[in-house]
Amino acid sequence: MSGSRPILIGSRNPGKVREIRQVLADLPVRVKGLDEYPDLPEPPEDGATFADNARHKANYYAGRTGMWALADDSGLVVDALGGKPGVHSARYAADRCGENADRDTLDAANNAKLLEAMENVPEEERTARFVCHLALSDGERIIIETYATVEGRIGHRSKGDNGFGYDPLFYLPDRGCTTAELPPEQKNHISHRGQAVRHFASLLESLLTAGQ
Ligand code: IMP
Repeated sequence: MSGSRPILIGSRNPGKVREIRQVLADLPVRVKGLDEYPDLPEPPEDGATFADNARHKANYYAGRTGMWALADDSGLVVDALGGKPGVHSARYAADRCGENADRDTLDAANNAKLLEAMENVPEEERTARFVCHLALSDGERIIIETYATVEGRIGHRSKGDNGFGYDPLFYLPDRGCTTAELPPEQKNHISHRGQAVRHFASLLESLLTAGQ
């Protein structure tokens, strides 16, 4: 749509960019991906919270490109582990597989480490949630922020082949299955990221309408 506002998605994960693009499809925005900026280095993700990391990434990408930029940070929070792996979810087991391990190797090592850490934790204390925090920056400040969670429990063994990351261990008591056993559309519908992106879209629509 001409006259629509460009918004850069600050992620090199094509699955995330596709999901966000779908949800924003009816808004007067042109969604841009980082594929248009192959040489832009990724900012460090060393914040203490998901919110810190999302804000930092959004400000970084907006500042470097002059576009509004949306960034997310997500991860798994396990109550019995005092909130771990938390902001370190992606690289929880990096100490076991080295700095250059690929995503699948890391995911498998992360899940093995989580199972070990939870070995003696009783059923009722295996509560956990996926968290997704989103932030939109105009280059000077954060102009929209939202987050969402999905509650579950850590299973005793991996189940399911869909999804990624901790999905095979994330059991949804209401559904009687893990998020890796759900078809992708159903996972997107209930997931922390799906909920956060839909809420973000409604906030963005209000912001754009107010600015007309
Ligand atoms: P990031 O926000 O893409 O950096 O994701 C952080 C990490 O959290 C991922 O590498 C996964 O280990 C975990 N994670 C985030 N969202 C999900 C999910 O929907 N399913 C499984 N694992 C997830």
